Amino acid sequence: MTSRIVILGAGFGGLELATILSEELGEDGDVVLIEKGDAFVFGYSKLDVMFGRETPEAVRLPYRDFVKPGVRFANETITAIDPENRGVKTDASEYEADVLVVALGADYDVGSTPGLAEAGNEFYSVAGAERMRELLPDFEAGRAVIGVCGAPFKCPPAPSEAALLLHDDLSARGAREQCEITFLMPLPSPVPPSPATSEALLASFAERNIEFVPGARIDHLDEDRKLAVLQDGREYPFDLFLGVPRHRAPDVVLESGMADEGYIPVEPRTLRTRFPGVYAIGDVATVGVPKAGVFAEGAARVAAAEILAEIRGGETPAGYDGRGSCYIEFGAGQVGRVDVDFLSAPKPTGTFQAPSSAIVAEKQEFGSIRRARWFGR
Ligand SMILES: Cc1cc2nc3c(=O)[nH]c(=O)nc-3n(C[C@H](O)[C@H](O)[C@H](O)COP(=O)(O)OP(=O)(O)OC[C@H]3O[C@@H](n4cnc5c(N)ncnc54)[C@H](O)[C@@H]3O)c2cc1C
Repeated sequence: MTSRIVILGAGFGGLELATILSEELGEDGDVVLIEKGDAFVFGYSKLDVMFGRETPEAVRLPYRDFVKPGVRFANETITAIDPENRGVKTDASEYEADVLVVALGADYDVGSTPGLAEAGNEFYSVAGAERMRELLPDFEAGRAVIGVCGAPFKCPPAPSEAALLLHDDLSARGAREQCEITFLMPLPSPVPPSPATSEALLASFAERNIEFVPGARIDHLDEDRKLAVLQDGREYPFDLFLGVPRHRAPDVVLESGMADEGYIPVEPRTLRTRFPGVYAIGDVATVGVPKAGVFAEGAARVAAAEILAEIRGGETPAGYDGRGSCYIEFGAGQVGRVDVDFLSAPKPTGTFQAPSSAIVAEKQEFGSIRRARWFGR
């Protein structure tokens, strides 16, 4: 019997899961991938757009190029999820599934930081990155504050990368001397699971005169006085605020009753939710790993193995290992890497690979492999 598999969301997790199921089930598969957007954009491409290294058009990977045997792509907005009955409603249709996989990522809650929308900017969405691309060339003197408004947030190294790339951008325009850069971070260090990575980043900040403020919990932005005000009362004046908004699961997930403390709890080894036949992968799930594409992909591989074992019978697949590697832009064309392992030891561990030209090439390959695998480019 064919299983009707419905995947919600075509980000890192949904794209990889649909690709594996297509490879394994071919035309016999009955897979629907539902996504509201019309193009996929890698998270790191937002930094490229923001600093003018790529055009917004160049980083868009249209979903019309995602063509896989046995997978139907439905360009629809999900409006309701019924996890008990594995039912889904969209703005155009209704679906019933034997297996339902929620891969809807994390949304941004700009409004939960008062003043952010009015006095600041965010660079974590495509629209936000495009806006920053327009604003940055006019910023030639004054105080830039990069502020992470809450944790957990996607790709923990990304705000550090933004600080270092901002230094490069200002230097290239001859404006660095007239500008200050401050980085407000709620975490105790730039990449807490890897002290060596954090040390390397802190050294890079120090060399470039970037002020790093750990444990900074932003309460609000004061629009009139142009201040970022922390919960402990400290104030940081800014002329340009580059924000990472607080994150939360999409509304449709919160309304479905699947979430607990903001995200969907899952059994960490299998990624099954408490609802039979329903999985959650990637940023929308609580697994104890960072919110990053590589982890969403790893989770997709595990969910695929579980689903295929259920359809075909056979051995229980190896569980999710919570391992992944993240590339880190150090500025000046340098890229390093941190290899992290979140689940095999009681505490997460991370190994730092210092920037090298080999890692620059590796990061490019990371993008091109996925572009080819998912979009045939
Ligand atoms: C600046 C920045 C840099 C980053 N750099 C890296 C990096 O170098 N390496 C890395 O691994 N990760 C990086 N990330 C993180 C990475 O982009 C995310 O963690 C990853 O995309 C999560 O994958 P996902 O499949 O869980 O969710 P997503 O990729 O967010 O996909 C979720 C999908 O669900 C869709 N969706 C949501 N709601 C609905 C709805 N109601 N109806 C239909 N569709 C819906 C969305 O449109 C989206 O396409 C970065 C992120 C940012 C912002």
